[in-house]
Amino acid sequence: MTATTATQRRLRTEIPGPASRALQERRAAVVAAGVSSVLPVYVTSAEGGLLTDADGNVLIDFGSGIAVTNVGHAAPAVVDRVREQAGRFTHTCFMVTPYEGYVEVCEALDKLTPGTHEKRSVLFNSGAEAVENAVKIARAATGRQAVVVFDHAYHGRTNLTMALTAKSIPYKHGFGPFAPEVYRVPGSYPYRDGLSGPEAARIAIDRIEKQIGGDQVAAVVLEPVQGEGGFIEPAPGFLPALSRWCTENGVVFVADEVQTGFCRTGEWFASTHEEVVPDLIATAKGIAGGLPLAAVTGRAELLDAVPPGGLGGTYGGNPIACAAALGSIEIMRQENLAASAKRIENTVLPRLRALAEETGVIGDVRGRGAMLAAEFVKPGTTEPDADLTKRVAQACHQAGVVVLTCGTYGNVVRLLPPLSLSTELLEEGLSVLDHAVRTEASK
Ligand SMILES: *Cc1c(COP(=O)(O)O)cnc(C)c1O
Repeated sequence: MTATTATQRRLRTEIPGPASRALQERRAAVVAAGVSSVLPVYVTSAEGGLLTDADGNVLIDFGSGIAVTNVGHAAPAVVDRVREQAGRFTHTCFMVTPYEGYVEVCEALDKLTPGTHEKRSVLFNSGAEAVENAVKIARAATGRQAVVVFDHAYHGRTNLTMALTAKSIPYKHGFGPFAPEVYRVPGSYPYRDGLSGPEAARIAIDRIEKQIGGDQVAAVVLEPVQGEGGFIEPAPGFLPALSRWCTENGVVFVADEVQTGFCRTGEWFASTHEEVVPDLIATAKGIAGGLPLAAVTGRAELLDAVPPGGLGGTYGGNPIACAAALGSIEIMRQENLAASAKRIENTVLPRLRALAEETGVIGDVRGRGAMLAAEFVKPGTTEPDADLTKRVAQACHQAGVVVLTCGTYGNVVRLLPPLSLSTELLEEGLSVLDHAVRTEASK
């Protein structure tokens, strides 16, 4: 099957169509049930913000493979660099015989991440691996063990990152025992806690000081905008207060920017919105246009506290993934995708707010850049409505728009379109969402 030349949404069959359903049947016989799919249409090609499936349907992609294809599917600068690199060599293992692409990605991370201090980076394959290694680095550098995380946090599915993640079902249930020395404190969820940022930070810090002891803490790990937990933006002042407390107490402030990074929120990194400079920053998802790559970037003295051989992995910083990252970063720079994310925000937020106003089933509209969400509640209350959320998402899917849900209560529809998505496709996808909300809310 060759690349699609589709330029608009097109439904040829019901969703999923017969070819996808046949593949789904084959899958059930061989693929583990534990790995599920939001929308089982089988993709045969993708370009920009459109996915073409096995039945010839063309769907608008408001998910970007969970905030990964920020530069759009099949972006030429990514595809060309991947092809070129694959033709030269696919793997040597950076820990055996190194290559320039890895160094170039680390040079780019040095420049792009917040702060002008001396930095180092190390590359991995996944967000969980990056977060887990940030904790390893913080522990080695401080000689301390405790790690502080927050309510609604999501940091991954490996053993340590499961412990860091808040939500039990489906991420943790039955998978214990979990790693010790992980402590969860309340975060900032303005819609539900009604607290200002400094007030929420005070509660978290008080908890840390009284129940853990500031001098026991190696790292505070947090997402500047929480992702899987519900696209929760902390109230202004929360992040700076925690960052300040970390500096004053010799604690490593780790920003998990796996989902928020690489222009997603309208800045290269979401920490920048409040001028927070993390000691360590974990990145992945949007870094490499869909190739598996992740990084920990931060203060040289922290990263270099780990002796040679203490960090790494067979595939970490794979040359093809590095080539893809360099292509992605080039596009983000040249096309100013941070500004493009703000354009998306300016289109989406007013429409979601109007929808909230007119239907009464959306309690909160929030987000930044192209990381936007609507939280569904029973009208006149703050009681989560997960059932309506699910029906809205399904109605969008059936109309050919891929939207994702999230949230501790499963009641958030989140939008993560490619940053390069045209305003036309964005508006069209939003109209589908609009119709889905109105129809389902009146049932
Ligand atoms: C997705 C995600 C992770 C885990 O990344 P994987 O590549 O799936 O391991 C960690 N933190 C955040 C904030 C994420 O969104």
